[in-house]
Amino acid sequence: MNPRDFKELRRSTQELTPQQRHILAEDLQDATQTENPVLAQIDRAFSEHPRCPHCQYEHVAKWGRVKGLQRYRCEACRRQFTPLTNTPLSGLRKREKWGAYLEAMEDGLSVRKAAQRIGVNHKTTFLWRHRFLACPAKEKPTLLRGIVESDETFIRRSRKGERYMERPARKRGTRAPNTGTDPNHWVPVLVARDRSAVTTDVILSEVTAQTLKNTLVPVLDKEAVLCHDGLPQYFTMARETGIAHRTVYAAHGKRVVKGIFHIQNVNAYHSRLKGWMERFHGVATRYLPNYLGWRRFLEHPSAPMGFPERIIRAIVAPAGHHSLAGT
Ligand SMILES: [Zn+2]
Repeated sequence: MNPRDFKELRRSTQELTPQQRHILAEDLQDATQTENPVLAQIDRAFSEHPRCPHCQYEHVAKWGRVKGLQRYRCEACRRQFTPLTNTPLSGLRKREKWGAYLEAMEDGLSVRKAAQRIGVNHKTTFLWRHRFLACPAKEKPTLLRGIVESDETFIRRSRKGERYMERPARKRGTRAPNTGTDPNHWVPVLVARDRSAVTTDVILSEVTAQTLKNTLVPVLDKEAVLCHDGLPQYFTMARETGIAHRTVYAAHGKRVVKGIFHIQNVNAYHSRLKGWMERFHGVATRYLPNYLGWRRFLEHPSAPMGFPERIIRAIVAPAGHHSLAGT
């Protein structure tokens, strides 16, 4: 548009009714958001299986666009919605920065470093971290096949960020014992990983035959062979459920049995997880599921799509509800 026409167009907006002004504002907002690849991914992922977030009905009609996203109307309850309605991203602002934020997550940046990189306040990146991770934290594989390695690791318990503590805060510099399994200081996290690198994890209340059973049995393929380090609870669980299992007594120095049975992949996963978590300087235990999900998504095997898109899909097109609730 030539400058003179543009000047005229701007002048003519003064004659608009309030309603016309509103419509034009939405159009303009939409036009400035269409270049946003994250919103395009959100639209694409949701459109594969659209359903009403209010009543779950699957017959929905496209109903214009709003703020760069497709709007729909449910043919049952007649309510309008977008792919983000009732998701953790609903109501978050600065959508033009979401793409850069997801890249910062992929790079594992802390709240402050991510805020610096993308140019928002660190309160924003703190909020976003847990909003973006709420769904990935719940999305876990439903089936582990073949040789499945299982082992627990212990993450330091932290009440960081909790306003009321049941016990006095640890003084800075005083540390929990560096080893051990005391549940006052350490949270047991079970990780199970098969040889195609499909990985699941669960925070256990304690390591018992029952919690192992609740965690592992629903996701083990019936042909799977479970490898473990000989913890007695595994024997009890295997006896009760009849699952096939092999013990690898790391303590006896025999770390690989028959050339294939070992738990080195899962132990390597533990060390990558813990090494990666060091940058966060102690993770609040109540947020630990989010960090475990973050790590799982970073390690997703041979994914055809990148980390940002998988996070988006977990939010607007979840793969279904999974059996691995916490135990
Ligand atoms: Zn509906």
